[in-house]
Amino acid sequence: MSTTPAMSTGGCLCGGVRYAVRGALRDVIACHCSQCRRTSGHHVAASGAPSANITLLKSDTLAWYSSSDRAERGFCSRCGGNLFWRPTTGERAWTSIMAGTLDPPTHLKIRQHIFVADKSDYYTIADGVPQTAGDST
Ligand SMILES: [Zn+2]
Ligand SMILES: [Zn+2]
Repeated sequence: MSTTPAMSTGGCLCGGVRYAVRGALRDVIACHCSQCRRTSGHHVAASGAPSANITLLKSDTLAWYSSSDRAERGFCSRCGGNLFWRPTTGERAWTSIMAGTLDPPTHLKIRQHIFVADKSDYYTIADGVPQTAGDST
């Protein structure tokens, strides 16, 4: 989005992890897959940026968990905050950033719901944003 500031910052609840992102952030994709459900406690809402644009300002408590054979998730080992998702295949050129960890205002919008076929049954997606049963297109 053109309204995204040139530099964005964010971090976890306890402050053990802080990061800065240069340039535009992707609009938010909400992922309802089982892995996102179980790590976030609900569904994930993730922005993201080229990995090269992300600088870790503080990473004392940052830990990575291999959540599948093709991706890993960055979280704070002290406060438990979910921060990042990145593919472990290829060049790791992309990092998704959990949108709630960005310092507001983000000027972002949710643009898509993905893996809605895997969502849990206790909520309804009713925001009018496009949905796909599986991966983003
Ligand atoms: Zn923390
Ligand atoms: Zn997911």
